[in-house]
Amino acid sequence: MVVKSARLPAARPAAKVAAAEVPNDCEVTVYCPGCTAFETVWFLNGHLMETQKFTQVGELLFHDCGTGRPCRLYRPL
Ligand SMILES: [Zn+2]
Repeated sequence: MVVKSARLPAARPAAKVAAAEVPNDCEVTVYCPGCTAFETVWFLNGHLMETQKFTQVGELLFHDCGTGRPCRLYRPL
């Protein structure tokens, strides 16, 4: 019997998105250009779920490391 090897899904590119473009309920990877932190956050009903480290300002997300640069959001395609 031949066992078909399970294929792992290939790493897919992630789309850079603005918070305003995030679907209502979505898991998003956030990259902070200030301190290069990488975190996963969740959006519920289009708003960032409460987190101690990130603050949503309009369509931008800011990390609490003190950088004035907005985080980049990445969402799996
Ligand atoms: Zn940061």
